[in-house]
Amino acid sequence: MQPVPARSDGYVARVGVLGGGQLARMLAIAGAPLGVRVVTLTPDPEASHDVTHTIAGEYDDEHALRELASLSNVVTYEFENIPPEAVERLEGRVLLRPPPAALTTAADRWAEKELFGRLGIPIARYTRVAAPTDFDRALTEVGLPCVVKTRRMGYDGKGQRVCRTEEELRASWDALGGVDLLCEQWVPFERELSIVAVRSIAGDVRCYAPGENVHEAGILRSTIAPAPDLSEDLHDHASLNVRRILAELDYVGVLALEMFQHGDTLLANEIAPRVHNTGHWTIEGAETSQFENHLRAVLGWPLGSTRHHGHAAMVNIIGTTPPLERLLAIAGLRVHMYGKQPRPGRKLGHVNIVAASGADAREHVAALRTLVEG
Ligand code: AMP
Repeated sequence: MQPVPARSDGYVARVGVLGGGQLARMLAIAGAPLGVRVVTLTPDPEASHDVTHTIAGEYDDEHALRELASLSNVVTYEFENIPPEAVERLEGRVLLRPPPAALTTAADRWAEKELFGRLGIPIARYTRVAAPTDFDRALTEVGLPCVVKTRRMGYDGKGQRVCRTEEELRASWDALGGVDLLCEQWVPFERELSIVAVRSIAGDVRCYAPGENVHEAGILRSTIAPAPDLSEDLHDHASLNVRRILAELDYVGVLALEMFQHGDTLLANEIAPRVHNTGHWTIEGAETSQFENHLRAVLGWPLGSTRHHGHAAMVNIIGTTPPLERLLAIAGLRVHMYGKQPRPGRKLGHVNIVAASGADAREHVAALRTLVEG
């Protein structure tokens, strides 16, 4: 274990974060009891400025990057679409964890698929569409229905379209902005799952219980963890696959693997090289939250237990602020607001509750969604 040397400013360590949204905010909150100060570099500090040391600036602002490097023992990332040049400019100046190659792989859907292929992890059929003429190949190799996704800069359902007819497929080139695309088979999945795991610099890996996720319009609405009625076999597959990915990327920190359950198979969809919305339940639902474990990992500290307490339910608050008094009246419910202005489709917070069974967790999700969605 290589501990990061302590600083003389009263904090045990400072962790730099590229990005200043809710993930940086929750890293900062998890870091406070450990004496860890989070320093963010962000063009939009709305969600985290009250709990972090914030450097306001563009990601390619040399002055801001220099300040971030000088203030941080280690720098990590809040989202994968950071301009690669910003990360390159930090290399050699400050420790970067997870390794930048993990970021570039996850930011490029093509590289991500190649990674899954290399590791023998099952995925939906796919092909690349680099020009409109490639749709002919997509029709034979992938078929309809399919999902067309931009190769880069897709998140929360942005930059993708489900196509059921050849016309829709061909129209997706212009609709998605005439950029490099990936066409993948539409999977009639039974449910979506994810597994969040953390790897230390010594290669110690701990997995959280896989969660069952519901997305609508590409945005996560809820997670229940452990995923109810998940067979031991699928549970083992999920942890084996995430372990393979972590080892292949020589990863340090938290990573999430999102999957589709289709019959007895898990098809990998994507990875997130960071703390992830499908791991927010761990704040109250596990012995060590994903946020604390990410900080521990990037700082070279021992990892905390990922064991879960009971059956956690997490519901996202999206677009509008719900009646807080009604949420707070629910025994055991924890509210996490992000300090962001309401806007349609925007993640403003989430609520967590730990239930006695998976069935109870499902009931909580149904009731909470009614409350937060109005
Ligand atoms: P992504 O940006 O790839 O995470 O996709 C966002 C959401 O769209 C997923 O969580 C699924 O709900 C849905 N989705 C994406 N790809 C597929 C697919 N190939 N088949 C069915 N649904 C998909």
